[in-house]
Amino acid sequence: MNPKLLFWVPAVLRMGLILAGVGVLWMLFGATPALALGLVAMGALVFIQLGYLYQLSDWLDNPESSRLPDGWGAWTNIFSRLYRLRRDDEKSQTELTEWLARFRQAMHLLPDGVVIMDDVLFLEWCNPAAEQHLGLSGQRDKGMRVTNLIRSPDFMDYIILGRYEQPLTLSFRERKLIVHIIPFENRRQILVTHDATETERTEMMRRDFIANASHELRTPLTVIVGFLEIAAMEELDKQTRNAHLKLMTEQGHRMQHLIEDMLTLSRLESVDYPMRPERVELHKLVAQVQRDARGLSAGKHEITMAVSGPDIVGSYDELYSAFGNLASNAVRYTPAGGTIHLTWKEGVSGLKFTVEDTGIGISPEHISRLTERFYRVDKSRSRETQGTGLGLAIVKHVLLRHGGVLQIKSEAGKGSSFIACLPKAAIAPEQPNPPELLLSNAP
Ligand code: ADP
Repeated sequence: MNPKLLFWVPAVLRMGLILAGVGVLWMLFGATPALALGLVAMGALVFIQLGYLYQLSDWLDNPESSRLPDGWGAWTNIFSRLYRLRRDDEKSQTELTEWLARFRQAMHLLPDGVVIMDDVLFLEWCNPAAEQHLGLSGQRDKGMRVTNLIRSPDFMDYIILGRYEQPLTLSFRERKLIVHIIPFENRRQILVTHDATETERTEMMRRDFIANASHELRTPLTVIVGFLEIAAMEELDKQTRNAHLKLMTEQGHRMQHLIEDMLTLSRLESVDYPMRPERVELHKLVAQVQRDARGLSAGKHEITMAVSGPDIVGSYDELYSAFGNLASNAVRYTPAGGTIHLTWKEGVSGLKFTVEDTGIGISPEHISRLTERFYRVDKSRSRETQGTGLGLAIVKHVLLRHGGVLQIKSEAGKGSSFIACLPKAAIAPEQPNPPELLLSNAP
C-alpha cells in the first residue's frame, strides 16, 4: 500500500473522529463543553506526539536497536523501520569487526612483511614480519617517512627510479630481502618484503657443491684422459704402460668413491628416503668397524675397542657408514705406530661412540668447518689417502637422522677424539631371554 496513504488516512481519521465527537457534543450540550472537550483531545494528541519525539531524541543519543520503544499510531511504523535499519547496521558492523580481526590475525601470521604507506611514503601501518625484516615499529614509526627508516642506498635508488614493476633484492640487516612496492588505491602504496636469506644460502650451497663436485671429478678425469692421449699417440713399453694403467685405475677408484659418497649424502638428505629403524647390536657393529679399520691400517696402528653401552634402534647400515668413516679417518690421519681406540658407552647425558687417535690432530680454526662438504685441512693428504672430503658430512647427516650430533676435540700434533653422541631415547628395549638361556637357568 502507498506509504503516504498509510500515514495520512489514519491521521485524518483520528482528527475526523475528534471533530465528529465535538459536533455530537455541540448538538447535545451546546458549544462551550464541546469546544472544551475538543481542545483537551487535541492537546492530548499533541502531548502524545511530543512524548514520542522526546523518546526518539533520547534514543538517538544511544541508538541501540534493543532500546527502541514500541510507539503508537504512525510511531509504530517509524520505530519498527528504525529498528530494522539499526539491526541491519549492527549486524554488518559485527561482521566487519570479525572480518577485520581475521584480517589482522592473518597479517600477524603472514611470514612476509607488509607496510602500508601513503603516496609520499609516510608509514601508516605495518605487520610484525615487516617490523622484523626492516627494523620498524608500527607504533613508534607511524607517520615517519619510510626512506628515513630504511637506510639503504639500493632502496633509495629503487624509490628514485620508481621501477616498481620489478622487485628489488636488498641486503639489509644481515638478511637478503626481496622488496616490492605496489601502488594501490589512488594515494597509497604497499611495500611487501620476503626474507630470502635461507633460499639464498641453500642456493649458494648448491652452487658451491656443484662447483666443488665438478672440480673433484675433473682432476682424476684429466689424469685419465691425459694418459689415454699419451697411449694413443706413442708406443709405450710394457713397464710404462703398466704404471699408467695403475695410476688410471687409482684415479678411476677415486671418482667411484666420490660418486658413491655424493649419492650417499643425497640419499641421507632426501625426504623420500626414510630411515628403516631396526635393532642395532653395538658389539657387532663396533667389532665390524674395528675389523675394517685394521684391514685399512694393515698392521701400522694398534686398534682397540671397548663396548659397554646398550643396543639401540636405528639403521645398521647408516651407523656402520658413519662409525666406519670416523675410524677410517683415524687410520688415515694417524702416522704409523699410533694408537686408535673405539668406545661405545652410556654417559649421563646420552650414548657415545668415540674414536680416539694419536694422529696429526687439527688446529682449532678448522674444527667448526670439518663437517662442510669437501672441506679438508690438508687437501693433498686427504687425496693421498683416498679421501673425498665428504666423510664427515655423511657422519653429520647420519647422526642427525638418529637425533644425534658429532663432537670433535682435537689438538694439532697431539691427536683427536671424534664423538658421535646419540640420545638415550634411541636405546633399544630389553630383549626377552632366549628360550635355551631360560632352560639352562632352570633348577
Ligand atoms: P676426507 O675424505 O678428506 O677425510 P672427511 O670429511 O672425512 O674428508 O674429513 C674432513 C677433514 O677433516 C679431512 O680432510 C681432515 O683434514 C680432517 N680430519 C678428519 N678426521 C681426522 C682425524 N682423525 N685426524 C685429523 N684430521 C682429521
